[in-house]
Amino acid sequence: MFDTAHMTEAEFEAVFQKASELSELFREVGPAHDTDNTFATETIEPFKKSGLGALQIPREYGGLGGNLLHTSKVVSELSRGDSAIALSYNMHFIMVGIAGSLMSDEQRAYWFPRVAKGDIMFGPFSEQRAGFSGLADMKAVPQSDGGWKLYGKKVWGTLSEASDIVTTNATITDAHGNIPEDFQERVEAESFFIADFDVDENGQGDGVRIEKTWNALGMHATGTQTIHFEGFYVPPSGFICEWRSGAFGVLEWASLMFASIYYGMQQRILEESVEVLSKKTLGATFGAIVAAETKVANVGHIIDGVGDFASRVELSRRVLYQTCADVMNGYDDNWPLALRFPYIGLAKTFISENVLHMSKRAMSLVGGSSFKKGAIFERLYRDSAASMFQPLNGDQSQTYIGEYLLAPEDAAE
Ligand SMILES: Cc1cc2nc3c(=O)[nH]c(=O)nc-3n(C[C@H](O)[C@H](O)[C@H](O)COP(=O)(O)OP(=O)(O)OC[C@H]3O[C@@H](n4cnc5c(N)ncnc54)[C@H](O)[C@@H]3O)c2cc1C
Repeated sequence: MFDTAHMTEAEFEAVFQKASELSELFREVGPAHDTDNTFATETIEPFKKSGLGALQIPREYGGLGGNLLHTSKVVSELSRGDSAIALSYNMHFIMVGIAGSLMSDEQRAYWFPRVAKGDIMFGPFSEQRAGFSGLADMKAVPQSDGGWKLYGKKVWGTLSEASDIVTTNATITDAHGNIPEDFQERVEAESFFIADFDVDENGQGDGVRIEKTWNALGMHATGTQTIHFEGFYVPPSGFICEWRSGAFGVLEWASLMFASIYYGMQQRILEESVEVLSKKTLGATFGAIVAAETKVANVGHIIDGVGDFASRVELSRRVLYQTCADVMNGYDDNWPLALRFPYIGLAKTFISENVLHMSKRAMSLVGGSSFKKGAIFERLYRDSAASMFQPLNGDQSQTYIGEYLLAPEDAAE
């Protein structure tokens, strides 16, 4: 992790206030973008103006000097307003964390001040064939000046419509564009690049273009589009490092920021549930409760349900904040190297299971009105489903851990 200057409590309070204001805007405009399946372009300028994009950039480069926990808190606060719009900007925080940790000093000196002044970064890595764990089919063909031209397609390009900088992975080929046939050579050739991302209002750039293909169950407002690289030039200075060996040591920026998104969503589910269930009256009922007047706030399973939500939100906060603190304080050094990534990732998988439970149970507690289009609960139910996919997912985390415990020598290789 790159060094960040310490931020005082008072300084962080001011930053958090900005996040709360932006979160209000996300809350206001989010529903229309969910309906229209569009990225909230009107949030780009307010995001830049808020200065939050510079949160993790060290002070010496003009940034705010925030750490992992500060970033997590800001991401959750944005998500409390609208998780889809927040998930989009989350790609910026993730990639500043990952790329910033792996860059050379020269690269930091060039890119950090740009981010501090408002440039936005995104990271399309996943391809069609296999998601995040698939080795890049995208090719980086060497050029005579030492740079590369990228050819390929990334199908999960969140935040492309707002970004000024692209970070991505591609496999360096021979001069004829052939990917190494040997598996180990292929792993070593997979590389991490950074470059300017300059596209016009139609998403067309020089050797790169955005195709608006996003059409999914939820998270509509993320604008997760397809990015075509068609001879996109990356200069020699755009090579950051070998991708897999580099990324493995800093992936906490991904999994803990995804955890922060879904922790913010948990808070929103609790808030909306309390708002509805504290007021709802059923009138005269004949069913489990037979009465002339039934107020749902007096119904046993609804009282328990709200208590269950609040408990899960609090437990998730403890798991997330403690995991951030463990990483910042170096407690992760106590874990075998092979378990570092999945153990850090437990915060995300724990929160994912809890948000999925809550979004489903909220609909059951609120009743049929929650199922109708436009109800916040049907939206949270759809959006929470995305938590199953971002790395690490629960199944893969358990595989990592089980493999290590059953055959530590093999797993360490
Ligand atoms: C809303 C949203 C936005 C996203 N934005 C981005 C983005 O901006 N950039 C980006 O790069 N990606 C993005 N993604 C993609 C995401 O991070 C995953 O890469 C993608 O969902 C596909 O990965 P997967 O593992 O779910 O599916 P697949 O890779 O197709 O996996 C299929 C199955 O195989 C299992 N599996 C996969 N790999 C392994 C392995 N190595 N070992 C054992 N089992 C394995 C999986 O657990 C799953 O059961 C986004 C996803 C969502 C939902």
